[in-house]
Amino acid sequence: MPKTVKKPGEPGARLNPPENSVTVRMYFTGFGDCFLLAFRAEDGEPRYVLIDCGVHDKYQGGDARLKSIAQDIAETTGNKLHIVAVTHEHTDHLYGFMYGKDSFQNIEIDELWLPWTEDPGNALAQELKKIYGTKIRALETAIAGLHAAGNLHALKLTNLFGFDLGSAAAAGMRGNKGILESLRAWSRKKLERPEDYRTPGEDPIELPGVKGVRCYVLGPPENIDFIKNLEAKKEMYFNTPALTEETAFISAVMDASDKKVPGGNQEFRGYPFDTNFSVPPKEAAKGYEGFFRKYYGLKDQEGHGPRWRRIETDWLENSADQLALSINSLTNNTSLVLAFELTKTSPAKVLLFTGDAQVGNWLSWQNVSWTTKSGKEQETITGADLLRRTVLYKVGHHGSSNATLREKGLEMMDSPELVAMLPVDSDWALRTMRWHHPDAKIESRLMQKARGRVIRSDRIPEGDRFDKPEEARDAEWDVFLKKLEWDKSPERLWIQYTIQ
Ligand SMILES: [Zn+2]
Repeated sequence: MPKTVKKPGEPGARLNPPENSVTVRMYFTGFGDCFLLAFRAEDGEPRYVLIDCGVHDKYQGGDARLKSIAQDIAETTGNKLHIVAVTHEHTDHLYGFMYGKDSFQNIEIDELWLPWTEDPGNALAQELKKIYGTKIRALETAIAGLHAAGNLHALKLTNLFGFDLGSAAAAGMRGNKGILESLRAWSRKKLERPEDYRTPGEDPIELPGVKGVRCYVLGPPENIDFIKNLEAKKEMYFNTPALTEETAFISAVMDASDKKVPGGNQEFRGYPFDTNFSVPPKEAAKGYEGFFRKYYGLKDQEGHGPRWRRIETDWLENSADQLALSINSLTNNTSLVLAFELTKTSPAKVLLFTGDAQVGNWLSWQNVSWTTKSGKEQETITGADLLRRTVLYKVGHHGSSNATLREKGLEMMDSPELVAMLPVDSDWALRTMRWHHPDAKIESRLMQKARGRVIRSDRIPEGDRFDKPEEARDAEWDVFLKKLEWDKSPERLWIQYTIQ
């Protein structure tokens, strides 16, 4: 691709927000998060914070796209990132660092921010990793069992699972873990002490050379019960009943432990009938005068009935699904959550980046507070205050139903200036994964609360027009549009919003 020389102000040129402003650039990675924040420092120069850079590992063309995005980040920042924050270990938040490795390894990174759950010296973090590891092993066993039984569902599960581990060993990086190792190596400040990891409630962090901005760490909570709280019906806009996570977990683990997959402890299974009425496959293959061969496809040969009539692995399918989902959610719930407070505004505006935090993580913010000094006066700020003053909400987990809380979340965001940024590719999610991202109820409530000012990565306009939704109010909408810019190139890599 030919390189064009860019003048200041043109897309691709250095990103430097006007005085007393911050610009938030959301990249359209496909299905994933990548946010570049530019703050203006006292010396007139920008300070850059990058929050995540990833694309789902199954996203077609994600590698090429992330390469371009990494190049854009390098150009836009003049090869300098003051802070790189990684919220959690999922491909859709990490893979950009791998696909864009050539650019990233030339970018000077001053500080890497990781949640305390990534600290190898933290006992609680290690306990979490252990729970996680047990679940992973149970799931692996369950998937192996499904494979062995010729269950097609195994493939779908493997896909969901790959998301957590980072399946590719591409670019010499061993999945998500390898990417984090590389980031640690690229960063100038080494993460050697417990205080190098971000912990909720720690003193608000000032950005280097920037006055009037304080960064608060809200999550992940230092409490396993909160992290394990993945769903709470009361707090969700929508919920479907499902086999409980623990049942799923136990059933799979039981089978994993006695090496009889499919098999194992009956009481944890989801069979529709009592076991007295079941015929084990081995017995069915032997007897009953060919009845089962004829109708139930026992050998998968011609002249044998279809396999789909059999249900002996159905329980495993459902349980493994739930387990895969719970593993996924557990990682989401370890998301680093950051709130940037612009202290020169009154009331002080807040930019909230929640990663993919789920219910327990959100709930825990209600218990966090800070005592800060502004001048001689002491001031106590709570997580709830930050929610109330939020003017920019990075929508959690691509708009899924379990990552934007109701009462202790979106309903608290009362600022008339509220704008939401939603990184998603809903067409891809539905077509490829059958996910409803964003969830319809969350989407409509966001549109109401933000009065139409919901900026989606998959809806970057092709031309100059940004369509006005019916929720928008005329006067506000014009002000909003003035603060909005987007990449007009055919790639449409980014859209950005500036807050004064
Ligand atoms: Zn995500």
